[in-house]
Amino acid sequence: MRNQSIERTRVSAPRDMSSVSADAVADLEDVARRVYARAGRESTLAREATVDYLFGGLRSLPAGFTSLDASRAWMVYWCVHGLALLDVDVASRDEALARDVVRFLRACRRRRGRRACFGFGGGPGQMPHVATTYAATCALVTIGTEEARETLVKEDVRAFLMSLKDETTGGFRVHDGGETDTRGCYAALATAHLCGVLDDELTRGVGTFVARCQSYEGGIAGEPLGEAHGGYTFCGLAACALAGSLDALDLGNLERWLANRQGEIEGGFNGRTNKLVDGCYSFWQGGCFPVLQRSSETLLRQFSNRSAKALKVDADGAVDFDDSSRAIGVCAATLYQPAEYPPGSPSPAPFANGALQGWILDCCQSDNGAGGLRDKPGVGRDHYHTCYCLSGLSLAQHYGRCGVVEVVGPLESNTLAKVDPVVNVVQSKYDAWMSKQI
Ligand SMILES: [Zn+2]
Repeated sequence: MRNQSIERTRVSAPRDMSSVSADAVADLEDVARRVYARAGRESTLAREATVDYLFGGLRSLPAGFTSLDASRAWMVYWCVHGLALLDVDVASRDEALARDVVRFLRACRRRRGRRACFGFGGGPGQMPHVATTYAATCALVTIGTEEARETLVKEDVRAFLMSLKDETTGGFRVHDGGETDTRGCYAALATAHLCGVLDDELTRGVGTFVARCQSYEGGIAGEPLGEAHGGYTFCGLAACALAGSLDALDLGNLERWLANRQGEIEGGFNGRTNKLVDGCYSFWQGGCFPVLQRSSETLLRQFSNRSAKALKVDADGAVDFDDSSRAIGVCAATLYQPAEYPPGSPSPAPFANGALQGWILDCCQSDNGAGGLRDKPGVGRDHYHTCYCLSGLSLAQHYGRCGVVEVVGPLESNTLAKVDPVVNVVQSKYDAWMSKQI
């Protein structure tokens, strides 16, 4: 990808224009400043403690987790994928546990209407849902055993996905009689891709539907006329990438919105304009940049169709970020970002990948090296945030600059496995699975 100067047009309320959301943002910035100013900050990932925490999520959970009964397939994915990012293969470490997990997912399969048509519910006996079908599929790909492979009967999964196709809009309903949104589009196409059944019938109209969800801000909403949101933006962009329909989107406007979601002090991403930075958006927003990197041809074609003024391409190929964050003092960008990119070095993604790693390592790890990651300082860890913080950390290490791995902190504890950004499965697991796909 050629160097592009991303205009940073972050609009934040001045300190004297107080509002509830602006005050909350300023408070979190102060918390992050204090963390980054602390002497002895090591930016070390509590690797083994996090492995223990994720294995705990697969084995047994306290009674308080009953509220997540409809998300048990998700819980499996968050833990199995988190472990894979930490280079732990569940089947090698604990064969019996891997078998139990696959059998549990098998019990989540549920027929929908026709004989050969099934998806996965959030738990045994629950209605099949496209999001939990995606989660179960990714977990099975990651476990990767023969038993896992046999659990996905691809023709039946395809029939389930087609049963959710909304022919009127081109999108996908999330379940029988459910709403049509960008989440449904992504989950359906990512599942079909991993099952090797992605075809024109499934992808038809998806680009048109997602384009109707792109807001004036540049990000993507769940439904047409909704507010741009990080999770939906990733889903919409990745769905268009899977459908081969990226041209349906205004990618330049999307990239500008994404770049402005990264907190100048915190280094992490927020999910919406004027909202707080949150660890899980390390993936939902950060994951869009590698997808855009892969789509650079489309992106550059769209740029070249605009005026030279809007283009702002650097003549000598040098990086030309707006460096306003570096003038602020103690912030993630000053501490973790390489001071300069040597001439001739590969192009960076238009996000501060070192600063994002700093946010995840120093603000999102649970206190006292207990393992697991969280939304932000002051709140507890959970499996969802552990999964998506680690996914974001992986892509910040592997996709900051094309072909160069940049790791903040000690290499041995901090280096994660590379992730495939479109489906969010560890690359080696994805490659092994797809190489056996007929
Ligand atoms: Zn979150």
